[in-house]
Amino acid sequence: MLVLQDRDQKIRQIQNEIKTLPLQRQNLESQLAASVSAVDALKQKVRQVEIDRKRLELDVGTRDESISRLKTQQYQTRKNDEFQAMGHEIERYENEIRKIEDEELELMVQADKVKADLAAEEKKAAATKDSISRQLVDLEDKSRTLETRMQDLTKERTELASKIDEDLLSRFERLFKSKGDAAVVALEHEVCTGCHMKVTTATSMHVRAGKEIVSCEQCGRILYDAGE
Ligand SMILES: [Zn+2]
Repeated sequence: MLVLQDRDQKIRQIQNEIKTLPLQRQNLESQLAASVSAVDALKQKVRQVEIDRKRLELDVGTRDESISRLKTQQYQTRKNDEFQAMGHEIERYENEIRKIEDEELELMVQADKVKADLAAEEKKAAATKDSISRQLVDLEDKSRTLETRMQDLTKERTELASKIDEDLLSRFERLFKSKGDAAVVALEHEVCTGCHMKVTTATSMHVRAGKEIVSCEQCGRILYDAGE
């Protein structure tokens, strides 16, 4: 019965390990997803800077067109005040163009930075992907190993259980389930090692005699003689 208990404890331990596997897998997958979305976010940023830069180029273009239109009109007019008004307008457009060009320069600096960030993030993401795929493979291996071990233990357990009296087996199984640790425990110096309470002298004597199945009066666990 102690061997049976040992197998049951191992089965319980493996079941617990198997239960953690999906969570571990989920953890790795969300790390991978986070790494991919970090790269995507930077790619989006690079695209946005490029779009902004194109928009500024267009803004310069329309002002250039306005300036050349005004210059043509200047040549066509004979009125001095009109000529001057157009001159002012040209100046205004030129000022605007200078400002836009300053913005363009800033955007180019920003673009370089974002591109460098993206390259670094992509490198990091590649390493993360490698590491996580390795860990996922390891997890698969571990899962298979645990399943095999579980099958072996279950088979062995069935064989062991078949040799034990049915009533005793169901008593053992109930205890094992309810106690959470052990159903069969040693009696050491008249103390139950399951609940750490002293048993009666009569109980202790029955355990020592070893002729029947004796339970601890306090916790109900099945007692065996530690042989001290
Ligand atoms: Zn006890």
